[in-house]
This record gives sequence, structure tokens and C-alpha cells, in this order.
Amino acid sequence: MAAVNEAAGASGRVGRNLVDKVVVRAGNSAFTVEKGGRRILYLNEGVVEQANHGILLREAAHELVHAQQYAKLLGKVGDVDQARRAFLVSGRSYRYAADEFVAETLAQRRIQKYLGNLSNSTLDWSNDYINTWRSIARTRRTYR
Ligand SMILES: [Zn+2]
Repeated sequence: MAAVNEAAGASGRVGRNLVDKVVVRAGNSAFTVEKGGRRILYLNEGVVEQANHGILLREAAHELVHAQQYAKLLGKVGDVDQARRAFLVSGRSYRYAADEFVAETLAQRRIQKYLGNLSNSTLDWSNDYINTWRSIARTRRTYR
């Protein structure tokens, strides 16, 4: 899909070859790895159909960071099944919260640099998301 390729370009060298398939669906945008290792990037159809270009690129760039996080893990672990299990952690874990604020921080930075700017509403939404997950991660690190 064009927007994912564009977001990958905007993400620089790290954005390439991180995803096997892009699927537009009614559910949330997400990145996941199937059994066997196929990497799927899902984009929410509402974002694809209605959003402005900046919102769509930001969304794709965010999921691409998750794809990058998985690639890093796979590089470290070496085995697809093992990496997949390690990647698909509980939403209640510290790792999940940390991955979320890192993903949005990098997505915002990359797309802002690429487009020159993001709308104030997109930026506000993105900053809220970063701050929320950062504080959740802090709590989990402290009380783990
Ligand atoms: Zn995310």
C-alpha cells in the first residue's frame, strides 16, 4: 500500500523490508506476526479512508516501528517462533507500554521531519499518547 511505502521511506533505511503484508480492516491499526513468521501490518479503514495524509502516515509509521521492534528481537533471538512469542507480550507488561511510547515518539519525529509539520490536532493526540504510555511504563517499572 502506497501510504505504508511512503511511511517506510520517511522512516529511512530502517523502514524497509519490515512487513510481508498490509491489510486494511475495520479494527485497530496494529502490527503482528503470524505463526510461521509472516509479518502483517493492519491499518484501520477509517484512518485510511477519511484521515488526512499526515494522520495516515503517522499511523503507518507507528506500526512500522513495531515491525522494527520485532525485527530487532528476531535478530537477537534468531528463531522466528521464539521471537514471535517474546514479541507478542501481554498488554499489561512493562515491555508493551515501553514499546508504545517509543513507537509513537519515533513515528511523530519521522513524519514531522518528512512532512515538515503535523497538524496541531495530530500533534496533540500524538503527544497525549506518548505521555500516557510513558507514565504507564514508569508505573510498571517501579512496581514490577
Ligand atoms: Zn503501537
